[in-house]
Amino acid sequence: MLIPDRTLWVQGASRVIGSVRNDQRRTWEYRPKPAIASKQCAHCEETKPIAAFSKHIGTKDGYNQWCKKCRRSELSQKREQIKADRTAGLLPPLPAEKACTKCHRVLPASEFYQATGERSGLSSWCKSCALAHNHKTMTPQKRRANHIWNKFGITQEHYDRLLTEQGGVSAVCKQTETKRNVMNHEVQLLGVDHNHETGEIRGLLCHYCNAAYGYLREDRDRILGLLAYHDRYAKR
Ligand SMILES: [Zn+2]
Ligand SMILES: [Zn+2]
Ligand SMILES: [Zn+2]
Repeated sequence: MLIPDRTLWVQGASRVIGSVRNDQRRTWEYRPKPAIASKQCAHCEETKPIAAFSKHIGTKDGYNQWCKKCRRSELSQKREQIKADRTAGLLPPLPAEKACTKCHRVLPASEFYQATGERSGLSSWCKSCALAHNHKTMTPQKRRANHIWNKFGITQEHYDRLLTEQGGVSAVCKQTETKRNVMNHEVQLLGVDHNHETGEIRGLLCHYCNAAYGYLREDRDRILGLLAYHDRYAKR
């Protein structure tokens, strides 16, 4: 993918536009960088389309040297290590106060979220910075994607694929969801039904079909028994 008019901050300009780092005043200028379609990752050494790399101000081409996938796995490894160290008691206890890396205010620990993957045990941004950022960047689509990920453990793309395959309705009753969320009164999403032994996703079910299936213990004899019982009295 080519982005011809992409511009990035580069160092060495005559005008001071922003950014003071490491107590050293640097000058920055808005200058276009060459557009590139693909790049080789310095870690996995695979050549990937440029969309697989995050933007980075400090590099010549304006992108990270490592692909997103490599950076993600490196970061999560670091986090896992920190978590292990914390459990083993190798890290100091939570600090009483800490400086927010965004607003640079030194605030009590209660003004930060707990974060086991951080060396200090606290989030790097204070709560008010995190909330403000969230408020600014959260779109309804992002909120939905987060909700799907947190609730069902699958990506929004995966969920929507299942939803499209089923025509947007419950796999059993072929109707749309009717159950509303008790908190915000919005109609819920169809639930993701798993085979509890294999973990395999079977399909999307509305609240009532999902609940009924569970109450019948997912047991064939019970399901057929209920059907026979229903028919016996419904036919009269
Ligand atoms: Zn890579
Ligand atoms: Zn802050
Ligand atoms: Zn249903």
